[in-house]
Amino acid sequence: MGAAPQTSRKTAIVTGSTSGIGLGVAEALAAAGCNIVLNSYTDDAADHALAADLATRHGVEVVYISADMARPDACRAMVEAAAARFGNVDILVNNAGIQHVAPVEAFPVDKWNAILAINLSSAFHTIAAAIPHMKRSGWGRIVNIASAHGLRASPFKSAYVAAKHGVVGLTKTVALEVADDRITCNAICPGYVLTPLIEAQIPDQMKVHGMDRDAVVREVMLARQPTREFVTVDEVGGFVVFLCSDHAAQITGAALPMDGGWTAQ
Ligand code: NAD
Repeated sequence: MGAAPQTSRKTAIVTGSTSGIGLGVAEALAAAGCNIVLNSYTDDAADHALAADLATRHGVEVVYISADMARPDACRAMVEAAAARFGNVDILVNNAGIQHVAPVEAFPVDKWNAILAINLSSAFHTIAAAIPHMKRSGWGRIVNIASAHGLRASPFKSAYVAAKHGVVGLTKTVALEVADDRITCNAICPGYVLTPLIEAQIPDQMKVHGMDRDAVVREVMLARQPTREFVTVDEVGGFVVFLCSDHAAQITGAALPMDGGWTAQ
């Protein structure tokens, strides 16, 4: 893990980690020597094959635990299953998330409820279940993958922006509650990262804004990122590994932008 060998053989849960940022974070933590719990809501051979591949490539133990982050009991049961399997939960990365884009007056209620449940409430449930394990071992790292939308709003994303602002508030509160326990809790706030979630948004954005694909990427997505570049999954993984190192022991309760300068404006 280079700069941060302290996480060796720690156990890390990464929610929503079969794709995109979550998979990249799992990859980075496995490369840093952590045992990994991969998660999504499916239970396919491909999910378990992904775990086996990660384990083989990095020489760590990796298990896939199917759990729907929309369900409170499933969130908590996943944490207990991880603790039973590995003996502890040292690192928790709350990454699972979905998106829906629509004007607020037409925003489907089921989409609002699902976004709040998966993007915000799941973090409450996994954190509540993980903290007793972290307190018992006297060390812990919680990293919540929020968003630049945890710090700024965009039109047509009412549920997502509300949930991500909520994640930032949850992060600060938890950090204060566990500050005495060698447990840190931080939120990373990425700008646009080109993942399947973002690819899937492009058609909706094209419809809402009446633009073609290139115009959405240039004028809607990267318009607010002064570097004019997508954040990469690899960069987010590297940042998580740093926050899990002992060098980051005094960083807690922070909402950390990683957005090419978006929120500096
Ligand atoms: P993605 O769609 O590529 O991956 C999301 C992952 O979450 C997948 O593995 C999916 O299976 C899983 N997931 C979805 N619903 C789930 C559920 N109910 N239970 C368990 N797992 C579930 O998305 P991504 O772009 O990698 O986004 C990951 C996180 O990063 C999200 O919280 C997102 O809001 C945040 N984020 C993304 C960007 C970006 O530009 N891509 C920017 C800022 C923040």
